[in-house]
Amino acid sequence: MTTRCVTLCLVGLTSLLAAAPSSASAENGGWVEGTLLVAWSTPEAGVAAPSLTAASLALDDGRRLDLGLDADDLAGLGGPGAVAGARVRVLLPSGGGGSPVRPLALEPLAGGGFPDASGSYPYVSLMCAFPDVALPSEGLSYFQGMYANVMPGLDHYWRAQSYDMVDVVGSTAAGWFTLPHNRSHYTDMISGNNYSVMLGALYDDCTGVASGSVNLPSYVGINLMFNETFGPYAWGGWGGVTWEPPWGWRNVAVIGHEMGHAFGLPHSNNADGDSDPYDNPWDVMSNSWGYALSDQTYGTVGKHTISYHKDILGWIPAARKTTVSTAGYRTFDIDHLTLAGTANLHLVRVVIPGSSRFYTVEVRDRTGYDGNLPGFAVILHEVDPGRQEPAWLVDLVDPANGADAGAMWLPGECFDDAANQILICVDSVTAEGYRVEIGYGEWSLLFDDGFENGTTSAWSSTAP
Ligand SMILES: [Zn+2]
Repeated sequence: MTTRCVTLCLVGLTSLLAAAPSSASAENGGWVEGTLLVAWSTPEAGVAAPSLTAASLALDDGRRLDLGLDADDLAGLGGPGAVAGARVRVLLPSGGGGSPVRPLALEPLAGGGFPDASGSYPYVSLMCAFPDVALPSEGLSYFQGMYANVMPGLDHYWRAQSYDMVDVVGSTAAGWFTLPHNRSHYTDMISGNNYSVMLGALYDDCTGVASGSVNLPSYVGINLMFNETFGPYAWGGWGGVTWEPPWGWRNVAVIGHEMGHAFGLPHSNNADGDSDPYDNPWDVMSNSWGYALSDQTYGTVGKHTISYHKDILGWIPAARKTTVSTAGYRTFDIDHLTLAGTANLHLVRVVIPGSSRFYTVEVRDRTGYDGNLPGFAVILHEVDPGRQEPAWLVDLVDPANGADAGAMWLPGECFDDAANQILICVDSVTAEGYRVEIGYGEWSLLFDDGFENGTTSAWSSTAP
């Protein structure tokens, strides 16, 4: 991936923050250009709510158009992760189209996708209160302490996630500020599951009431902390903005998840085929609630994200990853994903021939922020970069579970994608991970024949 941050992120967000505190209206029709701002939704634990994306367009003159686009519209462009932050042009209907405006067409022009993340990302938490809802007991010190460099503080967390490539030094909090409108003024804006207008208004009004006492352009990101819910979701995106209800900021895992969206990360998924992308227990960007640690002050604690996500943010250097795309039989030592400074691999990508898809092979262990994971095992994902949740956990036994033995590959077990002549076997445990053998092309068949003796009944095998 390209190295575009930190400079571009700073430029992008600074110009965004300098925007006039009101959304634009699309008076005239025709083509307009700008930067596409994408936000991803996350429901509260145990709440069944569909996964949504909301989109707005940051215009060059500093104004913002809130768009009436849904996930399907963005899926046609390679998924929301592929166009978030992209330079785009949209064709607006003549006569305007109101707010949100549904464009007649949307064309990416340049950029977008997943910018590498490195360096310091100073965030400010703006505590904004609906005037008709009582203030919570948590005050400024709670929100400032959330950024601490001790577990589970966000500075400590992002350093661990990124192998010390990203920190949030310089982050702080301010508030409580009183919003200019009661809660219903904002929630009344949600209609037809279109959230872009409400997210825009919450952003405009919260930054508006804070701007007198906070120098917003000196921060690369803003966590908007509200004193009540605003629909069933928390939100993150826009290249550095999150919207958090109390159940969000009372669980630092949610802040980690939404800041992951702010870095540009999509959700991952399990492979049960349902519409719920919050059910992969191995990823803070999916099921952030389950198999997570808990903190007395900051609630559910975020686990690590998967190797595919770490890689698209540039956190796995070339020496720690490899790609298998030619015939052969190879052995790799892979260390668990929480381990910084390892000499062994963190990621093996196995290309699925004739496609843009690939498998990722990683090791997860119950340590650090992964301390409450289901187990210590080799974990596989099948990645299709163009779909809404690119990475799907491989679990051939019970795809809806993902925390069972079918997802955890152990010595003696092989994943066999016979149609694509890919065989991934776990050979043995090592000091910090597992030795993995991969047969590719005709080698997978030879390897299969040679390997397949002993207690084959213990194997998981055969891709769907
Ligand atoms: Zn989310």
